[in-house]
Amino acid sequence: MTPVFRFAPSPNGRLHLGHAYSALLNERLAQAWGGRFLLRIEDIDIARCRPAFEAAIIEDLSWLGLSWEVPVRRQSEHFDDYRRTAFLLKRKGLLYPCFCSRKDVADAVARREAATGRPWPRDPDGAPLYPGTCRSLPSSEAESRIASGEPHSWRLDQPAALKEAPGPYFYDSFRPEGRAHRVVAHPELWGDTILVRKDTPTSYHLSVVMDDAIQGVTHVVRGRDLEAATDLHVLLQRLLDLPTPRYHHHGLVLDPLGDKLSKSRGSEALHELRERGIDAATIRRHLGFSADSEHLEPNDAGNQGQHR
Ligand code: GLU
Repeated sequence: MTPVFRFAPSPNGRLHLGHAYSALLNERLAQAWGGRFLLRIEDIDIARCRPAFEAAIIEDLSWLGLSWEVPVRRQSEHFDDYRRTAFLLKRKGLLYPCFCSRKDVADAVARREAATGRPWPRDPDGAPLYPGTCRSLPSSEAESRIASGEPHSWRLDQPAALKEAPGPYFYDSFRPEGRAHRVVAHPELWGDTILVRKDTPTSYHLSVVMDDAIQGVTHVVRGRDLEAATDLHVLLQRLLDLPTPRYHHHGLVLDPLGDKLSKSRGSEALHELRERGIDAATIRRHLGFSADSEHLEPNDAGNQGQHR
């Protein structure tokens, strides 16, 4: 089977060195293993994603010397795929409608914390687990609120999902010689997470799982910041009868203070490095991708190549 790799950025800002590392690693592995390299634009967040950022992503990746198959899959063009998938999960009774706002959730959590004197559990991203307010709404009430047009999301009924697909696991980290270890997934850490948002007929988790399957991705190579999300992704793959790719969660490129690079923290973007006169070969070398290198992790050259 031909290995299929992908780089899947969201066009909500400019790319930085961390993105460059991930894209280069995927391309390098695809080349080394005689595989395919795909680019996917993850633009389901219509409020934050911009065509100008997508154009900039293409420009930055081309400047780095990357090439990929066309046409590029753009998630905003495939909402019907995600709607269909969500429908399958609803039909199995694994999703329930939720009318809570973020504030409703925060208030409910604060009340529970005050009542118990203990902190309410958080998900791997640090958000409070959903306290279950809408989980047992009578279906007649939920249906009439939906019929009256009340905004709602759809949440995964986590206990029901785990009953349907117990013991999800995946294989993480791989090298050409095939070493990988089996990781038992803990999707319950995410609680009843949102799979269909109020503002769009999908979510990151649902669309990434669908697209990896639709595009035949065999190897998901992405940063350690997404490692916890994989636990949920493998559960969804099981529920939807989709294959589970191999995973590799690579170290993150850090800034000189040891923090993760991020658009919101104002980390220097690739185009700013370019405008400072740094060429693509220097960036590739800095990240460990000179012509003869064989890196699977960010190297520790210079200040910015540290990893954790
Ligand atoms: N679109 C996600 C991001 O930009 C990456 C998704 C993935 O690699 O699974 O963070």
